[in-house]
Parts: sequence; C-alpha cells; structure tokens
Amino acid sequence: MPTDIPGIHHVTAVGADPARNAAFYTETLGLRLVKRSVNQDDVSVYHLFYGDRTGSPGTSMTVFPYPDAAPGQVGQGQASAVAFLIPDGSVDFWIDRLASADVDAETTERFGDTVVRFSDPDGLPLELVARTDAPAGDPPERPVPAEHAIRGFFGVTLSLSDADRTATLLEAMGFETTGTEGRRRRYEADGDLGYVVDLSEDPDAPQGRPGAGTVHHVAFQVTRETHAEWRQVLIDHGLRPTDIIDRKWFESVYARTSGGVLFEYATEEPGYTVDEELAHLGERLVLPEWLEGRRDEIEADLPSLELHDTVRQE
Ligand code: ZN
Repeated sequence: MPTDIPGIHHVTAVGADPARNAAFYTETLGLRLVKRSVNQDDVSVYHLFYGDRTGSPGTSMTVFPYPDAAPGQVGQGQASAVAFLIPDGSVDFWIDRLASADVDAETTERFGDTVVRFSDPDGLPLELVARTDAPAGDPPERPVPAEHAIRGFFGVTLSLSDADRTATLLEAMGFETTGTEGRRRRYEADGDLGYVVDLSEDPDAPQGRPGAGTVHHVAFQVTRETHAEWRQVLIDHGLRPTDIIDRKWFESVYARTSGGVLFEYATEEPGYTVDEELAHLGERLVLPEWLEGRRDEIEADLPSLELHDTVRQE
C-alpha cells in the first residue's frame, strides 16, 4: 500500500455570481484568493482558489462560479458540508463576524467540539469547528486577525444512502473510524488539516443534485511518487479512475465513488506559486500554458472580477 493520505487537499464547489463568491470567501471568511483561473473543462467559467497565504494543501477551497447557475440540491451522494478549522476561543469572534456580514449562523456541539454552521451566498453548507489543537497555520495577514483566522479545512461530511463501501475506501486511504454520533460515523486521517471525513447515513435526506451551492468534488493529498499506486488502489476497489491529469498547480486522478461522491487525488506539488510570485497570487487571470494561446478569447468571455484591496498580501 502507498503511504497513508494525511487529509484533504482541496474542496471544489459550484457557485453562481463570481464577485459575490470572491467577496464572501476573502472578505467575510478571510481566506486569500490564491489563484484566479478558468475551469479547464469549461473555460467560459472562472476557477477561483481560496486558501491560506500560499494556498497550501489542506487549506484550499475552490469554486466554479457559473453566473447563471441554477441552485443545486444538497443531499445524498454529495459532500453535504465543508468544515473549516478555527482555534478554540474564536467562536464568539466568528459569530459576531458572520452576524455583522448578515450571515445567519447557528452553533451546535458535535463530538465534543463547538461547530458554527452557516451557508455561503449560494447556499453551500459551511462549518467552523473550534479545536484546541488547531495548528497556527499560515493565514493571510488581513482581514481576519491571525489569532482567529481559519487555519484550513477540518473536514467534510459525506451524505450517503449506504456508507459501507465509502468507509472501506477511506480505510484503505489510511483513515480510521474514531466514533459515531447519531447517523454520523467519523473517520480521521493522520494530518493536522482536513483530516476528518464524517459519513452521514440519513435515508430521509433528499437526493443531491448538482448546481450552485453544492460540492463538486473532494480532493485528497497524495504525492507524485504514490500517485500511480493510489490509482491502482481505486481500481482494486472497483472504481474507474481517470488517468493522471496535469492541472498545472497539481496533478490529479478523479474517481466517482460508489456512494456518488466524486473523489480526486491531487499532488502536493508543485503548488500555486509555480506560476505567480507569492506576493501577487490571485491578482490576474492565470492560464496553464496549453490555454495561453486562447487568452484574449477567454478573457473576453469572463465577467469582470474586481476585488477589494483587503485580499492583497504584501
Ligand atoms: Zn479538484
């Protein structure tokens, strides 16, 4: 078996209005726009990447904002919630911050942790999980004070009609079950970000339908050295993975899992600074070289995306 997977690399969701989406993730949640590109499978749509100061693996929330996207339905066969990690003691800060941004939030307890639940502007369920063991991380300098900043992912919840085969796959990936609460079965990997996958079996949950406000896929961290081995693990589990695809900032293998959720296995290398300087990440549209020849046409088709200065980082 290849070396265990430490956790989530990135999560990709479908959104609608790109400017509204970027304002929410950067100004309200305080993530940095680390890459401004296009959906490589549909270049008329942005692909926006938010994360810590460098967009390191385990911090990168990415969105395809289709301006005219119809709302999807969050439900079975999807990642039904995305959780970010905040320091213990930052809950009140975040409740106030979300309230001042007119974001409805509610607080609950789960596995002994305080969880703040809310949605992004397109209806995607998000959570902030407060933990004493949240790593210091490398958050952007602004606009959220470093002591309260989102550190990266805590994990995801997968809504499944039958979780057993997904559980078996997670175990092969190095995740171990650590507890059950209600219909939620928790699996944890050994990393310090994005290390939790909760499997939720709720027969009454609606069937998920793609669209704005839903997760498109969940990507896990692998290395280039183990990529082919992981691909073989997927085949051994009866899945039909793609070939290894060069996504410029990482290389990827995708596989639709038996529960319907699309998993990706993305390399930590080379990362978002491979084609832009750290100080200027996300400021301009970047394209992989195989799309550079179409830059004028691509830029003409994209809506303008002006960002507030707070997302810039010196
Ligand atoms: Zn991806």
